[in-house]
Amino acid sequence: MRPTCAPRPFHSREHTVKDHRRLGRDLEIYHSDPMIGAGLPLWLPAGAAARHAIEEFVREEERLAGYQHVYSPPMAKRQMYERSGHLAKFADDMFPAMSDDPDDDAEALMLRPSLCPHHAMVFGSRGRSYRELPVRIAEIGGMYRAERSGVVGGLSRVRAISLNDAHVFCSLDQVGAEVALVLAMCARIHPALGFAADGYRLSLRGPGAGYLGADADWARAEALLRDALVQAGVPFEEAPGEAAFYGPKIDIQVRDLAGRESTLATVQVDFAQPERFDLSYTGRDGSPARPVMVHRSIVGSMERLLAHLLEVHQGAFPVWYAPVQLAVAPVGEAQDAAARQFADQALRAGLRASLSLDGSLGLRIREASQRRVPYLAVIGSREADAGEVSLRLRDGRQLPPMPHAQALASIRNAVDARTMGIG
Ligand SMILES: [Zn+2]
Repeated sequence: MRPTCAPRPFHSREHTVKDHRRLGRDLEIYHSDPMIGAGLPLWLPAGAAARHAIEEFVREEERLAGYQHVYSPPMAKRQMYERSGHLAKFADDMFPAMSDDPDDDAEALMLRPSLCPHHAMVFGSRGRSYRELPVRIAEIGGMYRAERSGVVGGLSRVRAISLNDAHVFCSLDQVGAEVALVLAMCARIHPALGFAADGYRLSLRGPGAGYLGADADWARAEALLRDALVQAGVPFEEAPGEAAFYGPKIDIQVRDLAGRESTLATVQVDFAQPERFDLSYTGRDGSPARPVMVHRSIVGSMERLLAHLLEVHQGAFPVWYAPVQLAVAPVGEAQDAAARQFADQALRAGLRASLSLDGSLGLRIREASQRRVPYLAVIGSREADAGEVSLRLRDGRQLPPMPHAQALASIRNAVDARTMGIG
């Protein structure tokens, strides 16, 4: 379950290393416009295609791990954030309340700073039995942070955040297994995306008061997190005093090109929210019991993830989430019909294919390379007559002509295997 070493980025030597903002612009991944506002990027078609593929994969892995997906609204009444404690702790990071009646504070709405309270209320939407536990609620959902416009930028620091989030409601006994499951999911999903974590941090209580929950529960939860890390075989550092006030946590760190560290994945034990929302389930003996809430994210926010992946791969994404997987280029107009037919077949085979018709063939080949398209199918008169294509890979290799079905099957295999290799 230990993540493999960071795969070598695909970029070749002649490409200078670029940061995600430059790559995001060159590859038309996202766009920022002052008319919309700082920290509110638009996901352009290429960025949306990559994000969609990644989201589908993450949801599928979560589904296989027993998570259930929900949708919840990105805002709630002010009183919910009073109840959750977010207003007391994070008011400065939240946008002001919206109300059409300044005298009626109770109905004022706020953009949410996290998904936790909504998911707590999903758990609380009906009675629960110990037999249902753990209840795993997941969502890739929107949340908002009132960053000052001067500090936001690119995709790594935004005001509208799409978080890969989940909350597990379980007994304290089950926390260890749930944390192990999260680490196992990280060990599957991160290598498939083509990166490895730069470090694991176990954040523990420090001296002093202010921590919510019983001492014995804290000691138990800290031990369960530590055990899960040891069992996973990952190196980690302990950080006393770095725990949240509501519970201990594991942070999985990555570094950007400039060496700045940020948290990509996290798993946090929380004794506070179940208390605040008075969550309960019927225990084995028939009496009500309080669940523990485990917050976890495997890939963090979609914005920060894409920023990281752009830099790791320098835009040459693994074929399974490349925005365009296959560009089809006829050599001349006489092959347009054959190219169109092949591109249609590719679309029907579930691939993201585009037709490349404008400009000289050399220009189109160069453009596909600059766009870091994994496969370019060139169709000349010989290929058109034989019903074949010649595939060029973005590293410069060229495969011998092969029948349409064989070319599509080999690309499909690379997509389905989610390997880093593109040959
Ligand atoms: Zn949460």
